[in-house]
Amino acid sequence: MAGKRILILGGGFGGLTAANALRRALDSSHTITLIDRRREFMMGLRKLWILTGQSDRESGTRSLELLRAKGVEVVFEEITAIDPKARAVETRGGRLEGDYLVIALGAELTAQAVQNFVGLGYNLYEIGDVERLAARLQTFRQGRLAIGILGLPYKCPPAPYEAAFLLHDLFATRKVREGIEMTVFTPQPTALPVAGAAASALVEERLRAKGIRFLPSRKAVRLDADRSQVIFESGEPLAFDLLAGVPAHRCPQIVKESGLTQGGDWVVVDPKTLKSGFERVFAVGDVTNIPLANKQNLPKAGVMAEAQAHVVAAGIAAEIQGRAAEKEFDGRGYCFLEVGGGEAVAVQGNFFVVPSPEVELTRPSATAYGEKRAFEAVRLRQWF
Ligand SMILES: Cc1cc2nc3c(=O)[nH]c(=O)nc-3n(C[C@H](O)[C@H](O)[C@H](O)COP(=O)(O)OP(=O)(O)OC[C@H]3O[C@@H](n4cnc5c(N)ncnc54)[C@H](O)[C@@H]3O)c2cc1C
Repeated sequence: MAGKRILILGGGFGGLTAANALRRALDSSHTITLIDRRREFMMGLRKLWILTGQSDRESGTRSLELLRAKGVEVVFEEITAIDPKARAVETRGGRLEGDYLVIALGAELTAQAVQNFVGLGYNLYEIGDVERLAARLQTFRQGRLAIGILGLPYKCPPAPYEAAFLLHDLFATRKVREGIEMTVFTPQPTALPVAGAAASALVEERLRAKGIRFLPSRKAVRLDADRSQVIFESGEPLAFDLLAGVPAHRCPQIVKESGLTQGGDWVVVDPKTLKSGFERVFAVGDVTNIPLANKQNLPKAGVMAEAQAHVVAAGIAAEIQGRAAEKEFDGRGYCFLEVGGGEAVAVQGNFFVVPSPEVELTRPSATAYGEKRAFEAVRLRQWF
């Protein structure tokens, strides 16, 4: 099959992996086109390093234009509609059609969902807010800092807790920790339900050890602007001077309108092949939802998007080259949970295990922290 065109929608973790893997697997008679509204890529994990002054934005940012030198066509456009039957997308600059579609458009943050959060709180997952909060923290010596998970689902479940650990360290280094009351709240009953009891206990013990109050089962419904309070569903208030929140995520509207979610909230895929309900249309990463045996959902994480994109790229290349597909997504993923003090815990999860995922944790170590740094560096080298 000569001269196929593969359209990759989104140049984040999933899209970058798919583009690179397909370009390596297919000869130049096949066109690989990546479409993104953003011209640059930066990993989410770097936001916490920017927040706490461990690193800057520039050293972890790469231009998507660099893919052109590798033979990937890059289109910088806003995608306004997807037609999965025709394997076509509408962009502000015109229509593009492909033989295969790989949807890797990620998730949107619903910052407006909690009334008054926009304006009063800082979005911990949005780079502009992270930079503004980092600047504000320079002079924050006393008061109440709340870090809140505002709704579900949200990507990288450990990240808000990592932010709390790292900010504790930052305040301690600046010798202002005693004057700052820190609280973390979540609508979930434990810190990390998807990772199991041991991972939740580890996080909750660390919070206690650092004197950070933990409020589980607290669903924020609005902020009271006059009193600077978060109001939870039960009516209970939480007063704050600074609030860093993680808004609930949702599937991009254009994806929902395309029919790919089959009336549900996220793109429906075969968990092993990432095939959507439409022929030669695949979806990977945060835009999908994969239910697990224990009634939780596969965590939204870059490693998952990456592993899924490898499966999809191998499957497309095999079909084009007339071979049988070899790879299947196995639900395995890992991350390095930063606990402060220059240490991290390596978390390994086997999420497709029945009746519940198997998750292993290492002891906190500087080695695992180094591996987290390398996790980013290696991928930036491979992708760009
Ligand atoms: C603070 C933080 C820490 C994290 N730490 C980790 C970690 O340690 N390990 C880990 O594995 N994951 C981590 N993550 C999660 C990880 O960033 C995401 O899960 C991952 O980026 C998902 O990849 P994706 O390809 O599905 O989507 P994304 O990487 O979000 O990419 C989606 C792309 O689609 C583009 N796009 C969307 N809509 C349109 C449109 N209409 N038109 C054009 N382009 C569009 C976007 O611009 C974007 O580039 C972290 C996230 C955060 C916020």
